[in-house]
Amino acid sequence: MNCIHCSEKAVIELQHGALCKNHFLSHFEDRVFTTINRYKMLGPDDLICVATSGGKDSLTVLYLTQKYIKKHKYKNAAVFALAVDEGIENYREKTLQDLTKFCTEHNVPLTIVKSKDTFNKTLDETYQTITEKKNKKPCHVCGVWRRYLLNKTAKEMGATKIVTGHNLDDEAQAIMMNIFKANTSLAGRLGPVSGIKENEHFTSRVKPLYLCPEKEVRLYALLKGFQVHFAECPYSKEGYRHHIQEMLNNFEEQYKGTKQGIVRSFLAILPLLKEAQKEEKIINTCTLCGEATSKEICNACAMKEELMT
Ligand code: SF4
Ligand SMILES: [Zn+2]
Ligand SMILES: [Zn+2]
Repeated sequence: MNCIHCSEKAVIELQHGALCKNHFLSHFEDRVFTTINRYKMLGPDDLICVATSGGKDSLTVLYLTQKYIKKHKYKNAAVFALAVDEGIENYREKTLQDLTKFCTEHNVPLTIVKSKDTFNKTLDETYQTITEKKNKKPCHVCGVWRRYLLNKTAKEMGATKIVTGHNLDDEAQAIMMNIFKANTSLAGRLGPVSGIKENEHFTSRVKPLYLCPEKEVRLYALLKGFQVHFAECPYSKEGYRHHIQEMLNNFEEQYKGTKQGIVRSFLAILPLLKEAQKEEKIINTCTLCGEATSKEICNACAMKEELMT
């Protein structure tokens, strides 16, 4: 199979035809840059915190954020990488090694914060309590703590934007998870740009890979030679998301375009959901840590307290 634009051998077949390595790379970058422009994700004076883990999505988004800033000659903008070490043995240390190497090679300042410093225990150390005593899933705790630390640290470092590596598959999964759990209040966290702009406690989060399917991100990272372990977190199969992911992958195999359809339908109703949420949400500050919350105690602190007992 040859590329539809030149006679080179194709590396991927997309809906509109097959592409060779070079044409795929520029097709992918064009889509990311168009997404950044369409949703006004980055500006010339932004201090951009890229939330990274060392996985393929985060290295790709970090690389392309830097490329976008250079391409647009945003002299006042700056990029730094921020990672959370949850304390997951045989996994996180590998991805953080990849990340550290990448940041050194690409000249990006990197900050790593450890969950244990704030929540007293690593995820591994608290695993038994989470699953056996509290009957919860590790991903649930991990997600709440990671979001908390990213938001708090990015704000402390003066970031005006948080870039995340969420891709189209992640978003389709999150949309379905929220629908299946009737979790409509989470709508504010979804979409290409999230966070409440008017609130000083929230730094706007943007997702430049929003419209990129996971398999394309994987191919991009491979073709660019990014050193990624492609390691999987040992807890990932325990999460609700994993089941949704399998379901959507099976569905996509039989009915091409399913994930795109989910995200496009969601985008059509997102303005209405955000509007409804703005009216509902009263922002307080957590009585324990001072971070933003709609309750008296934020989710991260509540979880910390619960897991100590
Ligand atoms: S798979 Fe779950 S436990 Fe592992 S890093 Fe992701 S959210 Fe955390
Ligand atoms: Zn080509
Ligand atoms: Zn708190």
